[in-house]
Amino acid sequence: MKSENRLIIVSNRLPFRYTEREGRIIVTPSAGGLVSSIGSYLDKAMGPAPMDHARPVWVGATELRTRRLAKLLASGAQLDGGRYEVRPVALPDVTRDRHYNGFSNSTLWPLFHYFPSVARYEQDWFDHYRVANQLFLGTLEQTVRPGDRVWIHDYHLMLLPAMLRARFPDLPISFFLHIPFPSYEMFRLLPAAWRTELLEGVLGADLVGLQTHDHAQYLLKSVQQLLGYELDLRTVRGRAHSTVVDAFPVSIDPARFREAFDDHAVVAEKNLLRRSTMGQRVILSIDRLDYIKGVLQRLEGYEHFLDTHPEMVGKVTFILLIVPSRDAITKYRELKEGIEAAAGRINGRFGGVDWQPVVYQYRSVNHKKLCALYQSADVALITPLRDGMNLVAKEFVAARKDRRGVLILSETAGAANELGGAILINPTDRDAIAGALHAALEMPAEEQSLRMAEMQQRLTRYDVVRWAEDLLDQLDGAVAIRRQLQVKEATPEVRQTFLSAYAKARSRWIFLDHDGTLVPFSKRPADAAPGKPLLALLGQLAVDPRNAVAIVSGRDRDTLGAWYGSLPVHLIAEHGAYARPPNGSWSVPDWRTEWKETVIALFQQFHDRCPGSLVEEKTTAVAWHYRGAAQDLGFLRSRELVNVLNDMARSFDFQVIEGNMVIEVRPRGIDKGTAVRRALEERPGELVMAIGDDRTDEDIFKVLPIDAMSIKVGMVPSFARYNVRSHEDVLALLGSLAATPDPAVVMAV
Ligand code: UDP
Repeated sequence: MKSENRLIIVSNRLPFRYTEREGRIIVTPSAGGLVSSIGSYLDKAMGPAPMDHARPVWVGATELRTRRLAKLLASGAQLDGGRYEVRPVALPDVTRDRHYNGFSNSTLWPLFHYFPSVARYEQDWFDHYRVANQLFLGTLEQTVRPGDRVWIHDYHLMLLPAMLRARFPDLPISFFLHIPFPSYEMFRLLPAAWRTELLEGVLGADLVGLQTHDHAQYLLKSVQQLLGYELDLRTVRGRAHSTVVDAFPVSIDPARFREAFDDHAVVAEKNLLRRSTMGQRVILSIDRLDYIKGVLQRLEGYEHFLDTHPEMVGKVTFILLIVPSRDAITKYRELKEGIEAAAGRINGRFGGVDWQPVVYQYRSVNHKKLCALYQSADVALITPLRDGMNLVAKEFVAARKDRRGVLILSETAGAANELGGAILINPTDRDAIAGALHAALEMPAEEQSLRMAEMQQRLTRYDVVRWAEDLLDQLDGAVAIRRQLQVKEATPEVRQTFLSAYAKARSRWIFLDHDGTLVPFSKRPADAAPGKPLLALLGQLAVDPRNAVAIVSGRDRDTLGAWYGSLPVHLIAEHGAYARPPNGSWSVPDWRTEWKETVIALFQQFHDRCPGSLVEEKTTAVAWHYRGAAQDLGFLRSRELVNVLNDMARSFDFQVIEGNMVIEVRPRGIDKGTAVRRALEERPGELVMAIGDDRTDEDIFKVLPIDAMSIKVGMVPSFARYNVRSHEDVLALLGSLAATPDPAVVMAV
């Protein structure tokens, strides 16, 4: 089939709502930040009349209320102005309710916004959440074509990336979370089975995007704590494939708001507003109805402002626009009543016949009215308790072509990281809100202009097109990493090709890890000594004058010397801290280990709290092994220990390395890769081979020449070119090498 490179957007809602009135289908744009940003990107990036074959596809749930509507949609009728191809997902009523009102908005939403007391945990909701994600998968299975890229959005669809990956192993998939990813302590409140499924779900993507660097770090921390996967900076090496995690703060199309400044209809709206506010100073806030938006606290702050600044009574109007949202959920209905009561109280206390301190409106407005509101405000008071980004703040700034007006913004909104020209406040602090309102209303025009100009520059530089392009570029990079790391079994053909190259090479390097590569793991590290057949095999390889054989291990010098010292092999001990040529003596670099006593004491504590684990002291390093401990407890304690050590690593000059059931602390600057690179510089090899099973062997694979034969033991993603299943495969391969005839000898015969 022809490849079309389409972009498939997947979000819970379609960008349009369809209703039937008097036999006609009415199409209205949906509200909310997600639809605003993706819609703006597609409009700008695709232009007004996109080439038909490259039309992006938007997959989303819709309320298929009537059969006629269902039929119309299924027939592919253009209900979207032709800009995107729309693929609706039909969810049964019960599933839609449990998925949307239940798990998405009464479990994940409150928890991810740090409202654990509001979150409810219902198995039935989670089950329907999974079903809804499966129904999305069903539509995608019928939609995806070769060459497509899929971009999944938000917390309603966290299981979908992994489901889609299982179905399309090589499909480029990105996932973007528009809401905050919470700290580990918050995320772990979810029942164990759910949180694992959710994390594995998003890791199905090649690229996971979050709003801020902090959210990205929190996600990585939960992955490390709960799943124990390896991290290479931002790349998670999961069980089956890799995933890159990074921050991409979502943005807007600033031109759309700036250009509205001179629009006749907007100017007319502004005049109307000016008349209705009768020359008062205008404070504006716009939010969807939601407890995360801090509206009650904001009203208290405003009330406190009127109490503490009586001179402003009668001179300001607070326009409080609340956009209807999620009114099927009790908490939201209660909130609406609470807001109405608070606004009523303030109006009762301070208002009079000709002045209302709070003008409360519960409705949504169109783009022109929205722009008129932004442009009429002296102050935008945007104080969510927690918000992934908050686009209203960005839109207000973009709309102010006149560079007037002041933004007061919560420090807990994602937008606070970018909008440095705002007055940042803590949204629960009444004094701070009152003080900021006073400062904003008194701010000289020049300062307003300077602050606005700075924020507008940022919005122009990093607009919604940059945001999406940045993310999609990185998706290509993440796919390339996944393909590089993916499991590739060393087939008999691969082995045969390698043996032929080996036979021809006049100089070779063979780097071999010990534990898990040459010998199987044993509960006590001391029991994993190499047996006689292995030593004989290595001896046979090492005496070949074309070969340099190196054992590259985390073991200490004495152990390696005792086990392999009699063979003519290179020894690299303690992950590269010490090296010894065949039959030579150990190098003695001066590594600083002043942290050792502290770390040993800590390891000892963990040993006491985790029966079966053991502490190993080496010259430069200290290791805590938990292979001998009960599996669950060992894993749990290992997560705690990594946590403590990572904190300590800020004050000590050491690095924390996770191996196979072992955590090791050693001086910075030591790793197997550096040691192998040094060896290759001293004696280049025409053919280079390295075999290892451990995380620490990845450092070797990364530094090898591009044509080197690198082999990972175990069928997991790796920087190695090939994978084999077990140490037995390694021994078989080494046996074939030893049995490879020497062409020179054959010729002599
Ligand atoms: N908005 C809307 N209808 C309205 C008022 C506002 O669609 O009547 C838009 C607003 O322009 C903004 C989005 O809704 O783009 C709100 O996004 P934000 O990130 O501030 O909050 P969210 O609703 O995503 O929590």
